[in-house]
Amino acid sequence: MSHYGLIGNNIQYSLSPFIHNRLFEARKKHSPIIDGDHTYQIFDANHDFNRLINQIKREKLAGFNVTIPYKESIISHLAAVDPLASLAGAVNTVSIVENQWIGYNTDGRGLVLGLSYRGLVVKGQRVLVLGAGGAARGIIATLLEAEVSSIEVHNRNIDNGKKLVEFFNSPQVTLHAESKALDILINTTPLGGPTSPGESPINLEGKYFRHVVDIIYKPLETPLILQGKALGLKTYGGLDMLFFQAVLAQDIWFGWDLERSELASILEEVTAYVANQP
Ligand code: NAP
Repeated sequence: MSHYGLIGNNIQYSLSPFIHNRLFEARKKHSPIIDGDHTYQIFDANHDFNRLINQIKREKLAGFNVTIPYKESIISHLAAVDPLASLAGAVNTVSIVENQWIGYNTDGRGLVLGLSYRGLVVKGQRVLVLGAGGAARGIIATLLEAEVSSIEVHNRNIDNGKKLVEFFNSPQVTLHAESKALDILINTTPLGGPTSPGESPINLEGKYFRHVVDIIYKPLETPLILQGKALGLKTYGGLDMLFFQAVLAQDIWFGWDLERSELASILEEVTAYVANQP
């Protein structure tokens, strides 16, 4: 039996245990002997990160995920960080091998994998990213890796937007220039989520995008997604990103993945679970 978990602050209501435990159950069908039983639980820091780190060391986990606000502060505790996590400046997955903590970032790759699962290949596309926080940084790092044609950034605080563009120091990453036609819009701001229900980061009327992506997953359909649908655009909600981040984390921990049909049925279950939550 191996133990896994999620560290963060104020994360009692995270969906991660539900998703990871479903993925564990599916794995067990493949190899009950090799895989054994696994557990996935929440480790809430209650604002004391150092105490949490000591607790994690005592728990002898085989790996864990990291969420806000510790995706950056975990890095100083790691023996190594993979190149994408290093570029994103944030780690959301740690594997523990012979007591060595190795950091990865599956945030952006989860988004790109989720989009390709729905038939959208980002290579060669022109993307507008709304927001310039931690999620935007991880997503932009992965979009570059996935060879998009260009990435424009629009942020409420212009200086934060500029800093993010400067951080990547790439001709493909620029601040948003109003007039250009773009293929994909990705919202990484919290607008429309639980902290600002009913709000939208942009009015899509008169704008030219073929694909509208919102990384918010609660509600499953934000006002942005609903407007995109009403305008006949292709829309993608944030639950796929969350789900495929977990899939990629388990891929790192176990070195192999489940079949598409198995992932599809677990994703359906997770979607129904979220839809039925208050
Ligand atoms: P963050 O680091 O705090 O960044 C938030 C960004 O949104 C900043 O650029 C901020 O702009 C902007 N913003 C905040 N409030 C705004 C408002 N009222 N109007 C316009 N812009 C606003 O947060 P994060 O970690 O990037 O996460 C952002 C969202 O993505 C959260 O809702 C989170 O739940 C979601 N998320 C989803 C997934 C998933 O798996 N689906 C993964 C990661 C995050 P300023 O610079 O102007 O403050």
